[in-house]
Amino acid sequence: MQQVIIIGAGFSGIAAAKILHQAKIPFLVLEARDRLGGRVYTKQLSDDLYLDFGGQWIGPGQERMYELCQEYGVEYFETYDQGYNLIDINQKVKKFKGLIPKMDIASLINLDFVLKKLERLAKSIPLESPWQHPKALAFDSISLAAFLDSNCKTNSCKKVVSLACETVFASELNEISLLHSLFYIKSGRDLNTLINIKDGAQQHRIVGGMQTLIEKMAEPFRASIQFQKAVKKIFRENGNIKILGDGFEFTGKKVIMAVPPPLAAKIDFQPLLSMEKRQLLDRIAMGQVGKCFMVYKKPFWRENGFSGQSFADENSPFQSLFDCSPKDGSYGILMGFTIANRAKKYFRESKERRKKLMVEKLTLYFGKGASEPVLFEDFSMTDEVWSRGCYAGLYPTGAWTGFQDAYAKPEDSIYWAGTEASPVWYGYIEGAVRAGEKAAESVIGNLTKLNSN
Ligand SMILES: Cc1cc2nc3c(=O)[nH]c(=O)nc-3n(C[C@H](O)[C@H](O)[C@H](O)COP(=O)(O)OP(=O)(O)OC[C@H]3O[C@@H](n4cnc5c(N)ncnc54)[C@H](O)[C@@H]3O)c2cc1C
Repeated sequence: MQQVIIIGAGFSGIAAAKILHQAKIPFLVLEARDRLGGRVYTKQLSDDLYLDFGGQWIGPGQERMYELCQEYGVEYFETYDQGYNLIDINQKVKKFKGLIPKMDIASLINLDFVLKKLERLAKSIPLESPWQHPKALAFDSISLAAFLDSNCKTNSCKKVVSLACETVFASELNEISLLHSLFYIKSGRDLNTLINIKDGAQQHRIVGGMQTLIEKMAEPFRASIQFQKAVKKIFRENGNIKILGDGFEFTGKKVIMAVPPPLAAKIDFQPLLSMEKRQLLDRIAMGQVGKCFMVYKKPFWRENGFSGQSFADENSPFQSLFDCSPKDGSYGILMGFTIANRAKKYFRESKERRKKLMVEKLTLYFGKGASEPVLFEDFSMTDEVWSRGCYAGLYPTGAWTGFQDAYAKPEDSIYWAGTEASPVWYGYIEGAVRAGEKAAESVIGNLTKLNSN
């Protein structure tokens, strides 16, 4: 019998395991996949070429991530952010520097107003209890899209705010409640931080890819992680918890759930979880984003004064593009995010056609050099059975006010981790780590109390 069984070996599960290992509490991690990382997945294509198919950036305010990098000697580097960015809206491609693209004066004034209003409202949200905001019911009754409809007065302003928000949330904006959007913004400090590279959530990348960090974290207790163990049933009986899947059964005293909400909803719990938890699990839907990589011999756009960043309206399959070249620039890599409805349309095409679509856009933006890539790869976590979407689970209208803290609340001996259980940096790897650590500390506190009684 194990003291603690952790389900899921993403950053949250491994952060929880690290705390239990340090406290010398026997535990087991059960992971459905044959690898660590979950929504973090660094694909090694050759000795010197890797692509981060999942989470990759860290930035200021993500203290635990920087502390972990330091603890494990993992090197990080600045995301390339020099030169001109591009904006491709209304069938025109324009260069700009900084965060705000060139637009007509009315759109610029409107953009400033909408961004400031979002920042101001987000600031007022109590992170631990968004449903207690005096206007929670009103904010939770409308989607982010409805808010933008009534606040964006020009077409260009609406296009720019929408594509920025789609990149931040990885969702159609009519699928997320305004209250959840404001919570999410405050959870990651503010909108500026979430959008920016410099001083923002995209400031740094890990040398060798994000998976390097989780591999190092798990090294001391690798023998306590079992792969290809998809948990199907969790039965509580006589003070113990039985965990079952195809061909295995384990018993423990406490369980830490560190899986995305739609995957938790698929597990057969006996007795049933509370009505609130079940109904909320059924409502939280994952976002949808594909990462599309074009690899070149070198980052040729830098020589021509471009940052590699571009932002586009619905005429492009990609809401945004970033320079994702390795630290030493030994390859040039451009990564495009295709999100929500654009992703659905894009992934219906053959791989050959998808490559053509991306080459065409990159050639339009960066010239002839873009027509000669050495490699094209794209990937969507939505097609991964054990993720079902990304970056994270999103609350639709009515969910925060209807179910309040039902997600993260422990039930009997079952504790809830995962990035969706974190009030701080919800949806990010930092949130996953914090929620894993908090769940492990709660378990330790509870076990200590039991032992002293
Ligand atoms: C494309 C993409 C880009 C992103 N970019 C960033 C970024 O740049 N920066 C950032 O901070 N965040 C980013 N994120 C979000 C970040 O990756 C996630 O928030 C974080 O990795 C979630 O970690 P987690 O441990 O909570 O969940 P997960 O990583 O999803 O881990 C859950 C684990 O549980 C396993 N599992 C599921 N069901 C079962 C079951 N029944 N039995 C056993 N095991 C099970 C899964 O296989 C998985 O390994 C991105 C995500 C994606 C997909």
